[in-house]
Amino acid sequence: MEYSKMTLKELREALDKDEVTSEELFQEANKLAHQYQEEYNPFVTIIDKYKMKKKKDTIITGIPYALKDNISTSNILTTASSNILKDYIPVFDATVYKKLKEAGGVLVGKTVLDELAMGGTGTTGHTGIVYNPWDKTREIGGSSAGSAAAVALGIVPFAIGSDTGDSIRKPAAFGGVVGFKPTYGLISRYGLFAFASSLDHVGCFARSVYDIAVVTNIIKGYDPHDMTSLKDDGKDLTETLDNSIKGRKIFYIKEICDRSQYDKEKDKTVLEVLDNFYELLDKMKENGFIVEEVSIDQDLLAAIYPTYMCISCAEATSNNANLTGIQFGPRGEGNTVLEIMFDARTKGFSELIKRRFVLGSYILQKENQEKLYLNACRIRRLIVDKMNELFKTYDGMILPCSGGAAPHFNEATDQLSERYLLMENHMAIGNFGGFPSITLPSGFIDHCPIGINLTGKVKEDDVVLNMAYQIEKITGLKGMKAGDERCMK
Ligand code: GLN
Repeated sequence: MEYSKMTLKELREALDKDEVTSEELFQEANKLAHQYQEEYNPFVTIIDKYKMKKKKDTIITGIPYALKDNISTSNILTTASSNILKDYIPVFDATVYKKLKEAGGVLVGKTVLDELAMGGTGTTGHTGIVYNPWDKTREIGGSSAGSAAAVALGIVPFAIGSDTGDSIRKPAAFGGVVGFKPTYGLISRYGLFAFASSLDHVGCFARSVYDIAVVTNIIKGYDPHDMTSLKDDGKDLTETLDNSIKGRKIFYIKEICDRSQYDKEKDKTVLEVLDNFYELLDKMKENGFIVEEVSIDQDLLAAIYPTYMCISCAEATSNNANLTGIQFGPRGEGNTVLEIMFDARTKGFSELIKRRFVLGSYILQKENQEKLYLNACRIRRLIVDKMNELFKTYDGMILPCSGGAAPHFNEATDQLSERYLLMENHMAIGNFGGFPSITLPSGFIDHCPIGINLTGKVKEDDVVLNMAYQIEKITGLKGMKAGDERCMK
């Protein structure tokens, strides 16, 4: 058996047939983690001691996995990839970690993120850049960079991440794996370091939709520690995967996918992405999906990114006000409490974080609140209303995840261009409305993976996973890991 290529389902079968023991799987994962760490840097912490304390037998019992380092693990360093928390060892477990432990999952390591989960490049963590396993000259994307890389490298069959704007779904697409953010409130966020609470979700990465359903089954459920937690619907998300999708209706957005608006030279990769996208849509139609184009006000779409920035920076500034160097992290220098906090925060945060806190403070200032914060909330509402109106007719929305494969490290992006505003930011819609949203591989550009994103109605995680499972059969790109030979076709 070749551990690193196997899905969770296949590993379960191997364990059940006694072809391998859980400890052997852990040793293999640990070996791979060390082997790849220097080259790709997925981990902040690698766990070297095998530990499994299950309370019940589940599909993941005895199977290695990784956790993003903004998820609280008692007695294990949890840094959020920030200097201000570089020595922080929590005293309690996040609910998601507790559930995985009780289910017999074996933790292999804590993964690198963009500092405090802000950012989308995998380049801002305090322990350095995470490199894309498919091509080291490219980003893996973020913020759940290390979790995506660990799955793409085959170190673990699944990993946990968080998603506030697209932080699971973008790196999943750039890593050629599956990434899922369920309905807001389905998975408890108790113990997840808050970034923007109205947008934050916990979710997972794996190498197949089935595995995503298995992991989500284990980590979902009502939690009194999280006031946004939903009552458990008791659904087994694996049961409905193979349901027929005949008659399922999905839409894509004309303003994002219309080829005629892109330039043959300048937007070459976007056009390649769209070729791949329309080819997939054709195959989906042949397989029983109904796919239609809808038009959405371009101004509303172009407002997604500024709206996301206003709301997320405002919430982040308030949520992270506790990072003063007093309760957590290295104590700053100075003669007064203010001076000490000022020094700790100056040294503790990188440029990107400071910029976002300055923006957040500005947006929350009394004289700006109405114009910036409240207007952003109104635009968010307009976007969510539009989606809910469309979801009366459609079961889901499908779009390309990005206008290309993972960007090269030195690639300049014009963040105000129409192409960036539309093509690179639409996945935040899933966070605005708390909609379940999944990304899966759909093809390759320059031998690097690209993905599609499917978003559905609140509380219809089962429908989204069912449709994704069927699309995965159509793409034939299940169980990928970096360098997979299918990229040569
Ligand atoms: N890339 C987005 C940002 O910069 C999303 C981050 C996230 O989802 N955590 O904030």
